[in-house]
Formats: sequence, C-alpha cells, structure tokens
Amino acid sequence: MFINGQWCDANDGARFNVTNPANGEIVGEVPNGGKADVVAAIDAAAEAFKTWSKTTAYQRSSLLYRAYNLMIEKKEHLAVTMTTEQGKPLKAARNEVQYGADFLLWYAEEAKRIYGETIPAPRGDQRFIVQQHPVGVVGAVTPWNYPISMLTRKIAPALAAGCTIVLKPAEATPLCAVEMFKIFEEAGLPAGVVNLVTTENPAPIGEEFVSNPKIAKLTFTGSTNVGKMLAQGAAANLKRVSMELGGHAPFIVFDDADPEHAAKGLSLVKFLNTGQACISPNRIFVHKSIAEPFIDTLQARVQRMRGGNGMDDGISIGPLVGPGAVDKVERQVKDAVEKGARVICGGHRLMENGLDKGHFYAPTVLADVREDMLIYREETFGPVAPVITFEDEDEVLEKANDTNYGLAAYVYTPNIGRAFRMYESLKFGIIGINDINPTAAAAPFGGMKESGLGREGGREGISEYLETKLGGFSI
Ligand code: NAD
Repeated sequence: MFINGQWCDANDGARFNVTNPANGEIVGEVPNGGKADVVAAIDAAAEAFKTWSKTTAYQRSSLLYRAYNLMIEKKEHLAVTMTTEQGKPLKAARNEVQYGADFLLWYAEEAKRIYGETIPAPRGDQRFIVQQHPVGVVGAVTPWNYPISMLTRKIAPALAAGCTIVLKPAEATPLCAVEMFKIFEEAGLPAGVVNLVTTENPAPIGEEFVSNPKIAKLTFTGSTNVGKMLAQGAAANLKRVSMELGGHAPFIVFDDADPEHAAKGLSLVKFLNTGQACISPNRIFVHKSIAEPFIDTLQARVQRMRGGNGMDDGISIGPLVGPGAVDKVERQVKDAVEKGARVICGGHRLMENGLDKGHFYAPTVLADVREDMLIYREETFGPVAPVITFEDEDEVLEKANDTNYGLAAYVYTPNIGRAFRMYESLKFGIIGINDINPTAAAAPFGGMKESGLGREGGREGISEYLETKLGGFSI
C-alpha cells in the first residue's frame, strides 16, 4: 500500500494472493488493508490537502504531464501486468494503458481551465465573483475490468482540481494499481496527495469512505447494487458522490443499415474484454428483414475468435474474472435455451488445452431471444450476443428504453433523421451512431437512471471535484 508517500504493509501484517484468471497461477501478493490503514490514508490525504489545494494549476499540470510521460514509457510493462492479472489480450491491454494515460494528459490541460466568472451585482457598491475550489479529500473505489483506466479517470481530474485522494482498487486487480502508484511516486507527487489501500475485504473501507468526516466526496465505479448501498451511506452524511454503475446497452440495427457492416461492428465491441464492459451491447435488436445476413456474418466472425491466455498470439477471448462470472453466463444461456433461444455458436465453457484451469466461456451468439429470458433483463458481463428481432422504429425504441439501466446505446442506420430521433429519444448517457467506440478522455462518460450519477472524462469530469464558491464584496 502507498500511504503518505511511503510503501507499507497492512497494520496487522495481513496479505492476500492475486491470481491469473487464465490459469489460476498466483502472480503476486499484496497487503490486506483494513480500517486502521484506510484511516491513516485519509489522515495523510487531509494533511496533504492543506498544501496541495494551494498549488497553482501550472504546478499540478506539470506533475500530471510527468505521470503521463512515465505511463507511456512503461506502457509495455503496465500492459503485461494487466494481462497477467486481469486476463485481457495483450493488444487490448496496451490500448487500455493508452486510454488510461490520455486522462492524465487531458486533465493536465484542463487543470489550467478551471475558470470562474463575475456576475453583475444588484447593488452599485457590490461586486460578485465566482470561483471553483477543490471539494477536499476524495475516496475512490474502482473495478477490475479496466484496472488502469478506471484509476486515472478518477485520479487525474481529482488532482487537477486540487483534491487529494485515497484509492481502493478491486481485490482481483491490485497489482495494476501498485504499478500506477509507483508512477505517481516517480512523477514526484508530494506525500499524501495520492494514497493506495489494497484489501480483499472492501466493506470496511467503503464504510469509512462514507462516514469519515475528512472525506468530502466518494467516487465509485462498479455494480449498481454496491453503488446504491454506498450512495445511501454517503447520503446520510451528505457527502458528494459520483457513481459509474452497470449497463444493459441496446444495439439497434435498422433495415436500411448494411447488416454485414453492423455485424462486424457488433463482433468487435461485444467481445472486447470478453464482454466484461459496462458499455458492452447486451441486447442486439436487428430488423427482421436483415436478421439472416446479420446473424450469418456474426457467426462467421465469432467462430474465428480464439479463447486463451491473453499473452499468447492470436487470442481475442480472454478469461472471465472468476468462477462466479462463468456460472452467471452459463445460467443466462441455459435459461434462454430452455425458453426457446437458438444457439448459433458457442454456448459452452472452454475446457480444452488447459483452459479448464482458468475461467473461460466460448464466444456465443443466441438467436430468437425474447423478453421473458433472464438475459433480456440482466447485465451479462460475458461473451454472449443475444439477438432479438423487431419490425418498427417506435417498437424498438420502447424496448430499448425498457430497462433500469441507461449507460450506452448503439444505433446503425444511414438515415440522418432517424439517427437524430434515436440520439434524442434513447434514455442513455452515451449513444454511438454507426460508431462502436464513442469514448475518449475528452468526452463525458456516464449513465442515466440506475447506471449512475455524474460524468467522468471531458470538461464535465473535473467539475465533479469542484465546489462553486460565491464571493460578495461591498466596496
Ligand atoms: P463490484 O461492485 O462488485 O465491485 C466494484 C468495486 O467495489 C470493487 O473495488 C469492490 O472491491 C468494491 N466493493 C464491493 N463491495 C463493496 C463495499 N461493500 N464497500 C466498498 N466497496 C465495495 O463490481 P464488479 O463486479 O467488480 O464490477 C463490474 C461492475 O462494474 C459491472 O456492473 C459494470 O457494469 C460496472 N462498471 C461500470 C463502469 C462505468 O463506468 N459505468 C465501468 C466499469 C465497470
């Protein structure tokens, strides 16, 4: 753990193992932190806030630039750590490191654009100014599926705003966090500005984040259930929160779209990170008239995908995070098949050539998926593409919006009017129109409804860490 500028063990000396999900091998060991450790980290962050919050935007910016450059220098090492610990193919890990670094670069720049304003005051002898001040100490909780970019997406804007931070990474991927904190140390961030508490027992850390009076804000990325619970705790103490939660993205292909192009797009985005992404398409709505060529193209592409250890060449399907994740996928597929879905390809665990030592499920395409199936309602977080047919625009819009989630949605159509109608009517925070990758450090990322509160990235991302302060001056 990294507390107050020092690498340290847990207060009680406890540690836990980190395993490779591709083969079950132990790849590292980290401190198993608890309440005493997180309290020490919060104290350090609160002390550091006194001086860090007074630094100039230029000072903070130059440290973020330095961290960005170090990340780029160490890209390969970070990517290998990620593949070994989290499982995604090495090429995807490299892409994530770049995406993660982009947040440091973007917020190195945004630090210098924290503008205020002057407002005409009602009295002649009065002047109003408004400034943006850092909220204070931030508690951050991150998931395992994007174990580097989810860190920088919080840490970069928090530091740029003048906040200090205590981060608790997911128990499955603490090694990526350790490597990132070595970078922050080397970049020269002052002691206490960034603190890392690793643990395999997150609940006491979460409780401390929502109850400790020194924490001003909680930022969380993870499941909707845990997010709601933490948000309730934070509400009791009126702490600010940002929540990036689950998703259940619709992917809509209209009859005027090219079914082969759309199927190609789907195969690229659906199976990224083995489907373990909050913006992964989970309900694929295809117009009845083009369902056949769409499914044929999808099947041909998916059958060419190879599952295995992400360090090996030619692998596009890495392991799932753990046995529970494989069970969930299996349960959803079984339920769908029992209720009449057709397995076009996949539909089973991958057990051959040593894959039984890891947590693998074959990339799967299901056709004839209907509303009464579990997969229609539940976030899958696995490599399954369920195809549902539809016949008209109003019907598909209603179905797409009929979910408690509201993170990402995708639409394929060359009709500009329809594209605009869908962009404006879909109740999701991120809409890709003929585009499978509507994300970047410069763009606001976040969801509506039970997918979350607040935005990360873009201009919006830094405002999550700022407090608006009015000054009224009598002159
Ligand atoms: P999770 O909620 O189980 O875990 C996420 C984090 O919360 C981990 O660090 C975990 O240790 C921590 N946690 C769990 N219980 C806690 C508690 N009681 N107190 C404090 N912290 C606690 O989710 P997961 O399964 O690891 O991640 C997958 C979920 O994250 C999916 O639902 C996915 O959609 C979502 N996600 C959302 C985004 C987004 O930006 N919206 C990005 C990535 C993942």
